[in-house]
Amino acid sequence: MHQAADGGLARVRVPGGTLSATQFDVLRTAALELGDGWIELTSRANAQIRGLAPGAELELGGRLREVGLLPSVTHERMRNIIAAPLEDNQALVDALDAALCAVPELAFLPGRFLVTVGGAVSGLAGDIGLVGDALFLAGRDCGLRVTDPVDAVVTAARVFQEIRGDAWRLSEVDGGVRKITEALGIPHPSRIDPAVTPVAPGVHGSAVVAGVPLGRLDARLLAGVPVRLTPWRSLVLPVGTDTTGLFTSPDSPWHGVSACTGRPGCAKSLADVRADATRWIDTRNAPGRVHWSGCARRCGRPAGDVVEFVATGDGYEEIS
Ligand code: SF4
Repeated sequence: MHQAADGGLARVRVPGGTLSATQFDVLRTAALELGDGWIELTSRANAQIRGLAPGAELELGGRLREVGLLPSVTHERMRNIIAAPLEDNQALVDALDAALCAVPELAFLPGRFLVTVGGAVSGLAGDIGLVGDALFLAGRDCGLRVTDPVDAVVTAARVFQEIRGDAWRLSEVDGGVRKITEALGIPHPSRIDPAVTPVAPGVHGSAVVAGVPLGRLDARLLAGVPVRLTPWRSLVLPVGTDTTGLFTSPDSPWHGVSACTGRPGCAKSLADVRADATRWIDTRNAPGRVHWSGCARRCGRPAGDVVEFVATGDGYEEIS
């Protein structure tokens, strides 16, 4: 829980992004009954509920715990596992999550600690990653090929915690990758390049990937539907799901558009950027990445080529 300008903000960690229909219904209902009626999707494939009244976190925590979404109070902050959303990897993610939570000293890993699973998310700068049997450290293939991926990730996490001092990320630790590699075995000479391969909106086999405009989902939608959250603020749904309010084509004007929190959630914001972006969307006439910010901090600005609209208090400055 954090305190935001519009009330309590709860981040619900979802390792691997997979929520059963029951779990997602609990989240939706909590957003409607305790929050502002929306579920925000994050770039770590987690969910946020905001606008919580003082004390509502107890009720929310109880509801989440009942459906397995708060399995460890001690290890909650480090349960950050992003998985390639179209791969069959949730069982591995669940095994990793359980094994990491079972080691008492790993409760002290920083909240920024990140594990990635799968090639499509291997470039998201995880501290530890798996691509098949290849072990990634600090976002790069370290050359190790592992036979027991769960044991390898837990060992790497233990060594990171032992050597990290005040560092939040493995990439900040001098010689950190070398020390972990030495603890685990002998590197293979070949390397796999890290990649970030966003899943495009549309049908993929038995699933449909639906984009969520500005990463903010109306919690009245998708009742009784199992979902998988992606780090690109979209949802993997069973084919045939009613996708009203979402977009399922890369040609949608919403595709590639993002916004920071803005008003009323951020006290620093000079504008209601989401409302302004929503008004602008009908006039959009070119594809590409576009990001809206409520002030010069430009939170959440994506990497790479992006056109930005930054609130000035007197309109928006366009930066490209
Ligand atoms: S960019 Fe500014 S307004 Fe937007 S979330 Fe960050 S601090 Fe708040």
